[in-house]
Amino acid sequence: MEHMDQDILKVLYSEQEIARRIKEMGAQMFEDLQDKEPLFVSVLRGAFIFMADIVRACQVRCDVEFIAVSSYGNSTSSSGVVQITHDIQQDISGRHLVVIEDILDSGNTLYFLKQYFMTKGAASVSICTLLDKPSRRTKLITPDYTGFVVPDEFVVGYGLDYGQKYRNLPYIGVLKPEVYTK
Ligand code: 5GP
Ligand code: MG
Repeated sequence: MEHMDQDILKVLYSEQEIARRIKEMGAQMFEDLQDKEPLFVSVLRGAFIFMADIVRACQVRCDVEFIAVSSYGNSTSSSGVVQITHDIQQDISGRHLVVIEDILDSGNTLYFLKQYFMTKGAASVSICTLLDKPSRRTKLITPDYTGFVVPDEFVVGYGLDYGQKYRNLPYIGVLKPEVYTK
């Protein structure tokens, strides 16, 4: 039996480090959001694990929604075009939204989503990303809450995929180069 671990070159953030950081983020977000009854919107699929952890780390009265956008496909670089493939299911006018994202890279996705939610009448849209890769930003967008700032490397695990695989690794790591040429 071949374990997924064998495809990992190095671990960037362990399960314990991620859990500790999310606790801190949740406490900070609680301070900011406790009077706002926020709507947390998770961007599928990459943010599904982070969403589950951050909403439990931030014990505010809130509700949750999920939105799916077109992603990289099986490649490791963005096409720049964002399409909604599954939309949220409720009226958001006057609501304070917190978009929960796995990683902020070029900024295309969150730039688009922020405009989209503002157009739909949200009172505010803040951005909470587990990872930020600022070196690759092409859109002017900065997160309100960031877990870790990462170097310009393609990462997998804790929700993040390569070709839809590796999402269930409990840590965040970098793949061995040979995995891309398999
Ligand atoms: P952006 O629109 O900011 O360029 O990209 C955001 C999306 O690209 C993320 O939600 C994520 O799905 C994907 N992405 C960007 N960088 C990485 C990475 O290093 N690893 C993985 N697995 N996905 C990434
Ligand atoms: Mg994503």
